[in-house]
Amino acid sequence: MDFRFTEEQEMVQKSAKQFGKRWAPRMDELHRSAVEDGALDRSFFLELAEAGFAGSLIPEQYGGTGMGLTPLAIAMEAMASEGVGSALVMLTQMNALCILRAGPDPLRERYLPRVASGELVMAFAITEPDAGSNSFRMVSVAERRGQDIVLNGTKTFITGVDVADEVLVIARSMPYEERKAKNVPKTAGFNVVMVDPKAAGFSMTELPTRGIEGLKQWTLHFDDVVCEAVVGEEHMGIIPMFDVLNAERTLAAAAALGMTERLLNKAVEYARERKVFGDRAIGSYQAIQHPLAEIKAELEAVRLLFYKCATMFDQGARPMEIGPYATMCKYLAGELAIKAADHALQTFGGSGFSAETGMIDAYVNARLLRTAPISREMVLNQVAEHVLGLPRSY
Ligand SMILES: Cc1cc2nc3c(=O)[nH]c(=O)nc-3n(C[C@H](O)[C@H](O)[C@H](O)COP(=O)(O)OP(=O)(O)OC[C@H]3O[C@@H](n4cnc5c(N)ncnc54)[C@H](O)[C@@H]3O)c2cc1C
Repeated sequence: MDFRFTEEQEMVQKSAKQFGKRWAPRMDELHRSAVEDGALDRSFFLELAEAGFAGSLIPEQYGGTGMGLTPLAIAMEAMASEGVGSALVMLTQMNALCILRAGPDPLRERYLPRVASGELVMAFAITEPDAGSNSFRMVSVAERRGQDIVLNGTKTFITGVDVADEVLVIARSMPYEERKAKNVPKTAGFNVVMVDPKAAGFSMTELPTRGIEGLKQWTLHFDDVVCEAVVGEEHMGIIPMFDVLNAERTLAAAAALGMTERLLNKAVEYARERKVFGDRAIGSYQAIQHPLAEIKAELEAVRLLFYKCATMFDQGARPMEIGPYATMCKYLAGELAIKAADHALQTFGGSGFSAETGMIDAYVNARLLRTAPISREMVLNQVAEHVLGLPRSY
C-alpha cells in the first residue's frame, strides 16, 4: 500500500484548486444566470475541458485524456473544497461513461469528443413519479417502431434539463405486461436512450425544489418522442446503467468531501475570530472545538475509502466488486457533509442563518445527499443484504 499521491495526481489536485479559486467568485453569477435567465455559462465547462478534467474518463482516441476516474474524483473534491462545481459535471461524466462502456462505436464517436471538449452537457433521467427508490417500477417505454425508438411516459425531479443539450433516459423497452407475458427476465426489457430536449413531443414543467444550487428540477413529459439513439444493446439497458452508478456514487462522494472540507475551514476561521465572552474566541471552547476536530478525523478516514473506490474503478474492478464500496463511500461522505454543515451552522450562531454566510444554504445542499442520488435507507438495505448476507427486508 502506498498512500501518497502520484505526481500526476498532485498536479491534478493543484490545478483543480487553482481552478476552484478562479471560479469561486463567479459561482453566484453562474447560478443566478442559470436559474433566472435559463442560460448556462458555457465557459465553465470549456475551461474544465481545457484543464483536462472533462475528458478524464474518455480515451485519447475520442479526444479525452484517458486519465481515469481517480484524477476526476480528486479534481471534483478539490474544486468543491473551494465551493466550485456543478451537478451537471457529474451527470455528464456518468452519461459519457455509459456511452463509452456500452457503445456502439458510432455513438462513442458522435458524443464523447464533445464531452471531452466541454461542448456537450447532459442531464440524466431515471426517476419517475412512482419509481424512485425502486427503478424496476418504472413505466416509461422507449420501444422500437420500425427504424425509430419512440419514448412515452413521465420522469420527475430531473436536474438541469432546461440548460442541458441532451438527456440520457432509461425506460422500458416494452411495456411491463408485455415483458411478463413473453417471460423476459426482470433485468431485460430496458433501453438507455439519448433524447434531444427540443424534440417534438418533449415538454417539461418546473418542479420548485431546493438542494442543488443553480440548477432547477423538472418533470419531463414524453409523448411519442423519437429518440436520437439507443446506448448499448437494445433491451439490455439495465446493465450499463448499474455499472455507471458506481462512478456516480464515487463522484457524489467527491462533492460531499470537498463540501465538508470547505465547511470545516469556514467554521474554523469563524471560530478563531468570533469573541462573545471577554477576549477569548469561541474556538477556544471545547464545545465548539470538539465537533470540528471530530469532523476532521472522520474526513481523513472517509477520504481513504473514497480513494480506494476510485482506484478500484480504474484498476478495472467488476461492478459487483466495487458496488458495495462505492455505495458505502457515498453514504459516509454524505452523512459527514450533513454533520459538517450542521456544526458549521452551529459555530456561526445566528449569522449561520443569514444569506451572506451561506451556511443555511450549505446545510440544505448537504442534506440532499441523504436522499439522492440514492437514499440512506437504500444504501443500508444493500449493505445489509449484499455485504452482510442478511435477508432482504422489503
Ligand atoms: C434536488 C433533487 C435533484 C434530483 N435530480 C435527479 C436527476 O437529475 N435525475 C433523476 O433521475 N433523479 C433525480 N432526483 C431524484 C432522486 O434520485 C430520488 O428522489 C431518490 O432516489 C428517492 O426517490 P423518491 O423521491 O421516489 O423516494 P421514495 O422511493 O418514494 O422513498 C421515500 C422514502 O422511503 C424510503 N424507502 C423507500 N423504500 C425503502 C425500503 N425498501 N426500505 C427502507 N426505506 C425505504 C426512502 O429511502 C425514502 O426515505 C433528484 C431529487 C432531488 C430532491
